[in-house]
Amino acid sequence: MYYAGVDVGSTTTKAAILDVNRALLGTSLLATGADVTLAGQRAFDRAVAAAEIEPHDVTMIIGTGYGRYKVTFGHAQITEISCHAKGASFLFPNTRTLLDIGGQDTKAIRIGVGGEVLEFVMNDKCAAGTGRFLDASAQVLDIPLEDLGTTGLRARAPIKLSNVCTVFVESEILSHTARGRPTEDIVGGVHKAIASRSVALLRRVGIEEEVTFTGGVSRNVGMQRAIEEALGTSLNVSELSQHMGAIGAALFALERSEGKHVSPGVQVST
Ligand code: ADP
Repeated sequence: MYYAGVDVGSTTTKAAILDVNRALLGTSLLATGADVTLAGQRAFDRAVAAAEIEPHDVTMIIGTGYGRYKVTFGHAQITEISCHAKGASFLFPNTRTLLDIGGQDTKAIRIGVGGEVLEFVMNDKCAAGTGRFLDASAQVLDIPLEDLGTTGLRARAPIKLSNVCTVFVESEILSHTARGRPTEDIVGGVHKAIASRSVALLRRVGIEEEVTFTGGVSRNVGMQRAIEEALGTSLNVSELSQHMGAIGAALFALERSEGKHVSPGVQVST
């Protein structure tokens, strides 16, 4: 008996397969692209292949993420807020505050002792200060996204960004490069600006330790460090942080199959 979570995000789609003992057997990650339904199906197929099982061995599939209703082969849908909280408190049981920075949104979530969502806020519709802003910064500076973090860590005198709007990032960064500012100081400034915005969001739900950082942006070590400095405390981050929503969804699938009640406040539709 196996359980799957499929997290269809605005930028990437992730899937995770768990066995009955909550062991993670396989994951997948791909760009969501234009065909959201296809992305969900592909992510599921790839995670099943990574787990070395057959699709019909999966007892329950739960869809999450902004495209969760496109996981048409799923048995239920649950919001990514609840799924990230579930996954984070599974990996880091003392999590009380969660920061999830994805491709186009940032969420601050306060979590109860049982992993339930007590409160959450997210950025407004604009993608300012999200993964997209970092992607655009990397592109203007012509450095691979994967190197952004380590580049930012080398900053000696981080620049001060006037705003974190994706529309203006190119011209703002180009004006700093034109003035001869080193790339690492520009990246360091970008990280600092996003960190301060993220911490302001966290303050709105109340910051209680331990704080866990999830979403694709948690893979950026420069962002991790900048947020830790702005917060004055360390963050829980795992190699699986980008998959936290998919893992949480798979955990919900397992609990539902075991007949456990899904936490209050979780949107479930079958
Ligand atoms: P979604 O909102 O689609 O769920 P994710 O949580 O997967 O998005 O986050 C996507 C973002 O994560 C990208 O926009 C990018 O900024 C960041 N990201 C992904 N992989 C890496 C990496 N290896 N290094 C740094 N940042 C990354």
